[in-house]
Amino acid sequence: MVFESLSEKLQNALGKLKGKGKLSEKDVDVAMREVRLALLEADVNFKVVKDFIKKVKERAIGYEVMESLTPGQQVIKIVNEELTNLMGEKEAKLNFASTPPTVILMCGLQGAGKTTTTGKLAFNLKKQNKRPLLVACDVYRPAAIKQLEVVGEKVNVPVFSMGDKINPVDIAKAALEHGKRNGNDVIIVDTAGRLHIDEELMDEIRNIHDAVNPNEVLLVLDAMTGQDAVNVAETFNEKLGITGVILTKLDGDARGGAALSIRAVTEKPIKFAGMGEKFDQLEPFHPDRMASRILGMGDVLSLIEKAQASIDAKKAMELEQKIRNQEFSFDDFLDQLEQMKSLGPIDQLIGMIPGMNSKALKGLDVNEKDINRIKAIIQSMTKKERDNPDIIDSSRRKRIAQGSGTSVQEVNKILKQFKETKKMMKRFTDMEKTMKKKGKFG
Ligand code: GDP
Repeated sequence: MVFESLSEKLQNALGKLKGKGKLSEKDVDVAMREVRLALLEADVNFKVVKDFIKKVKERAIGYEVMESLTPGQQVIKIVNEELTNLMGEKEAKLNFASTPPTVILMCGLQGAGKTTTTGKLAFNLKKQNKRPLLVACDVYRPAAIKQLEVVGEKVNVPVFSMGDKINPVDIAKAALEHGKRNGNDVIIVDTAGRLHIDEELMDEIRNIHDAVNPNEVLLVLDAMTGQDAVNVAETFNEKLGITGVILTKLDGDARGGAALSIRAVTEKPIKFAGMGEKFDQLEPFHPDRMASRILGMGDVLSLIEKAQASIDAKKAMELEQKIRNQEFSFDDFLDQLEQMKSLGPIDQLIGMIPGMNSKALKGLDVNEKDINRIKAIIQSMTKKERDNPDIIDSSRRKRIAQGSGTSVQEVNKILKQFKETKKMMKRFTDMEKTMKKKGKFG
């Protein structure tokens, strides 16, 4: 998980301040030295760290903090605010043209995740009822055109290409005309990436830029490359004038330095974060929520948004009815597991729950394999068994274990868990009924 080590170190350093009734300047100094080290180890730009510490210190040894009843909490609040400021205060949304089409120019080095991110962005825009068109302007690698076409097919978005014999500037111009004729309201131009920055590449992108006059120039950066990502951002910004950054691979074990430095160094916002290889794993970048996650304060808002986006409201109502009527079956149980899974990797979800930091995670054994085994067990039951688990005797248990490639013990465990869950639901509905009778509920 990104920021894991930074998060742990910051929480350690700040945790020491929490319990203290009074803070001396020395206490703050000691904590800030640890914070400084943690940031440097996370590969945050040296100058950025220096400014950050100066700002926090100035505020932390101010009168209001030192004289407050909870000085430690106040310092943590300041660190949270300054971390947020560092990453850009508010979510930076995409700029759409006042008269469509909006043109988005994608740039970045090879391997940063540009093509994947182009697909994710198209997927995201489609969900907002836009009609994107992808444009293949990387004519140097024939495989690149094919890759974009595959991506387009997967997210069900058209791809405009003219093969690899035409000048990319002409392709971009033709794509714009094509898009206008076909009612595409967002045109996303994928450009060639190189392993390193070179002048020729920059000139070409600049020419495409001048030909299509984009509303957004988004630089795709690999968070795993740390300081290098920051250098690349600086150069692209100088030469091309980017409007924002998409940071990819934040689901990996990047140290997080890039996320914390880019805004300060380039003064350009991070607009999205790539959280995995799948097309739905692109998240708007919220500096305040990210700061909260880093400090182990969770990110309940993102969690709720994710849940709202992936949980089917109708199904949830039906489920509630079933629980009330005590008709909750193994099929519903399975449905619940599926919905949980569609929220995304469990370790990412846990990072969003307040107090559930990386340390808490270590003691917690949540893995997708367990969920898959439970699923296999339930799927090996007949419909009758799923509706009425009481009929599952020992020979049925043996058959289910065999069918799911698990053991009888595991089957027993799931049956027991299910029974407990049902019992708990019954207790809850009984309690609700009694409360209602007494007029204390709803
Ligand atoms: P390009 O050369 O910049 O177009 O890069 P690609 O789009 O081909 O991506 C390079 C690799 O990075 C592929 O294996 C992608 O699946 C992977 N990738 C891209 N974005 C992410 C992300 O947010 N998380 C993870 N884990 N992998 C990513």
